Amino acid sequence: MRKILVVFIGFGIILNSCKIAEIKKEKTEQDHLIMSVIWYQKSAEMRALYYQGFNLAKLRLGEKVTKMNIETKKAVIVDIDETMLDNSPSEGKCIETGEGFNNENWSQWTSKSIAKALPGAVEFSRFAESMGVDVFYISNRGVLESEVTLRNLQSEKFAFADSDHLLLKENDSSKKGRREMVAKNYEIILLIGDNLGDFTEILDDRSKNYGFDLVDQFEKEFGDKFIILPNPMYGAWEKPIYNFNKNLTESEKYRLRKASIISY
Ligand SMILES: [Mg+2]
Repeated sequence: MRKILVVFIGFGIILNSCKIAEIKKEKTEQDHLIMSVIWYQKSAEMRALYYQGFNLAKLRLGEKVTKMNIETKKAVIVDIDETMLDNSPSEGKCIETGEGFNNENWSQWTSKSIAKALPGAVEFSRFAESMGVDVFYISNRGVLESEVTLRNLQSEKFAFADSDHLLLKENDSSKKGRREMVAKNYEIILLIGDNLGDFTEILDDRSKNYGFDLVDQFEKEFGDKFIILPNPMYGAWEKPIYNFNKNLTESEKYRLRKASIISY
């Protein structure tokens, strides 16, 4: 009887330590992403915001096209990631493994070409096509990702998912040059993105007051020529939080994030 009891207690201890080990493994250095990824994947509010953004984009596109000369070639510029395609499973993988974003885990994700279209995005591209407006995809995915990106856009049934309408990053992460290339042959009537640099290079600058003052200068453009979509998971907005330092450790980043919070 005593032997049985000892074995039973021993088994209980092993079970308990396994459980703790499991919990330890669950806690990773990317846990700060949990709430933003959950919001992106599981809040109906996120879906509603994308519908709102693309509904407004359709409205503005319609208004602008009717005011323009029928002969003018017109274009809309859209970003891809977190604008047309949902890469939140890649962020989910970072939480799971504890590994932060890097080129390797990013291309592991994009090479699968399985990102889902964001709510309203495909319909918007088809609407633009029906109005005689070309859609150009300007993304900071690297040029080596052209094929997998096109495959993904095509499988999700986006309009203009061809190499003539895809401008990926070669060397310059600013999208200015690629926008100018489109502007040579088209009048750009609308820009859609989740990052301020998707609209104008002026808004790339976050060196002063998080970029708030610059956004204020462009106040009237938002909801008119610029349609911005929500991305709480990552973006250029992080740069000033980390003092533009790319070489911080996870614990340094954690401290800076916490220090930037406004409380009372
Ligand atoms: Mg984006």
